[in-house]
Amino acid sequence: MENKEFKLDIPERFYSDAEGKPFENCNVCGKSLLVEGTSYVVEKAMKNYEGYDFSSTVYEFAICTSCHGQVQQGMSKESLANLQSYYAKFMEERQGQPIFIDMRNFNLDNWLSKCFFKGEAIQDMKEYQIVAQFNGDKMMMNTPPMIIGEAAMDEMSALMSDKTIDEMNGFKERFLGPPPEIEELIYGKRLIMI
Ligand SMILES: [Zn+2]
Repeated sequence: MENKEFKLDIPERFYSDAEGKPFENCNVCGKSLLVEGTSYVVEKAMKNYEGYDFSSTVYEFAICTSCHGQVQQGMSKESLANLQSYYAKFMEERQGQPIFIDMRNFNLDNWLSKCFFKGEAIQDMKEYQIVAQFNGDKMMMNTPPMIIGEAAMDEMSALMSDKTIDEMNGFKERFLGPPPEIEELIYGKRLIMI
């Protein structure tokens, strides 16, 4: 069987809202991202407004693989192991219904309409994260993009040590520079690094 990598052009949902186009640089080290062979992750936290069919971006960032690895090193071993086993357990529970993406009629908006872990619809959530892996100007589908809903965020936060949460908050302070009105969300236990 042909072992080809599935990839798509960068969808607008993963553009930088601030720039209105794909992220061009790693938010940590400044490295150029749109060069083929450069792998990176884009994460956004979104907020819904009750009664409105509207999501706004609370924060967004692109981080290259090597900076991402450094952030993970800042996590306690225990927290990292807990998160990895959370994911492994989820994959195990899905046995018999593997995650299958048919690229011939893949609908990204449909795929990104519910929590990857819990299946809840994003319109029923107050907040959620979207995460995907990229290489240059393509989104990689081998590790599919995902929505992390608030219930899954809560479960993951509970698996992380205070030290790890402090590290993540330090990361946010240094690199995301949020305006004060969103501090509560940003500086809560809410940044889940996948
Ligand atoms: Zn970087």
